[in-house]
Amino acid sequence: MKIGILRGHNTIYNRGANGILKEEDMINDVSFKLINKLKAAGQIVIDCTPTQEDFKNIHSTTDSLRIRCQRANAANVDIVVSIHFNYYNGQANGSEIFYVSENGNNIGQPVLNEIVNLGFTNRGMKKNTSLYVLNNTIAPAILVEGCFCDSVKDTNLFDSEKMATAIFKGLTGIKGTLISTSPTASKDQIATWAKENFLNDNYKELLDIYWTDCISKEINPVILFAQMCLETGFLYKIPSQAGIDASYYNPCGLKTTSGGSNIDPTAHKKFKNWKEGITAHIDHMGLYLGLDGYPKESTPDPRHFSYLKGIITTVEDLGKTWTTSDTYASVLLKYSSEIENTEIFVHTDLERLAKKVDDLETSYSYLSSQISQINSRLSSLEDNLQFFTERIATLTSNVSTINQNIASLQSFVDKTLKHYQDIIKEV
Ligand SMILES: [Zn+2]
Repeated sequence: MKIGILRGHNTIYNRGANGILKEEDMINDVSFKLINKLKAAGQIVIDCTPTQEDFKNIHSTTDSLRIRCQRANAANVDIVVSIHFNYYNGQANGSEIFYVSENGNNIGQPVLNEIVNLGFTNRGMKKNTSLYVLNNTIAPAILVEGCFCDSVKDTNLFDSEKMATAIFKGLTGIKGTLISTSPTASKDQIATWAKENFLNDNYKELLDIYWTDCISKEINPVILFAQMCLETGFLYKIPSQAGIDASYYNPCGLKTTSGGSNIDPTAHKKFKNWKEGITAHIDHMGLYLGLDGYPKESTPDPRHFSYLKGIITTVEDLGKTWTTSDTYASVLLKYSSEIENTEIFVHTDLERLAKKVDDLETSYSYLSSQISQINSRLSSLEDNLQFFTERIATLTSNVSTINQNIASLQSFVDKTLKHYQDIIKEV
């Protein structure tokens, strides 16, 4: 199938909404992951979004939309999928898909079902005859409004990997757990889970290699690490039925080119170290998945047969192809979900907390020094008050002495005056 992907907005005349998240960031995150998944599953994908090169020909929103439709029509795609996220009043939430033709409705319904399965409110399939891209593509088109970029509920629930996977599953009809995805757990979660399941730290070197090399190939390291655990019985904590051990550096039961019995150790490939063994594992899986660049010209994978290209997409497929076992896929899925649900104490949280405590201690010691300064000022004020009170008392007593002296002086003057008046009268 040939699929035209239209990443909504993304030109200066036609910008996306800015909610709690930016619509264009959401569109691009989801679209690029969706494009990778579709290509890995063998679909032909045309990204019809205008490029920098087109910008000189774009002078309006219509120009921006017309280029997308022309590109989809010129490529003769089978279906057109335009990716958007909604924006309204912060309260509205949920997912909806617009269509014009009945074919569009049929293509959109399974996509909407998958998105709604992620927990978003189902706003339904909506016929809309006024949307440019729905009216101007030859192939049936849908316009996906994944969720609302200004809704707290939706943005909390939004995960670009899960949204891309849902749209992918809806478009292709593929069910089950995809192997070609970004990591579905952190490296810390895998390490914490492994610590509980391995006898010692012997998994660490393998985890480092799986983590880096799977991510660079767009393969989920959680699944391949879980597969190594299953195939090696947690590095031979459970003895190997094939009679091999860690000296084979064979993390996934790969046989030699000529193959042989499951219980014949010599039928199993011996690698020179874990790096080589894990590279063979990843290359074998890349071939199974039909990723870009496979089959490889040069690989340590001893069974890199081109007829294996693209025979699987999901973990569930492995139980029918990698090995014939009813329980293989379910054990892998059990390990993967245990890893994904492993709780870890995040270092950054601890660091944030420690910094808070530091800040509080600094504030506390500043406040303490202020309080002790205020106390010492208060006590010096008290001393001053005491001093002034004493001075006032002394002054008061001085004033009263002076008053007494004035009074006796007055009485002396009075007496003397009377004495002289008496003398004058006699004279
Ligand atoms: Zn939009």
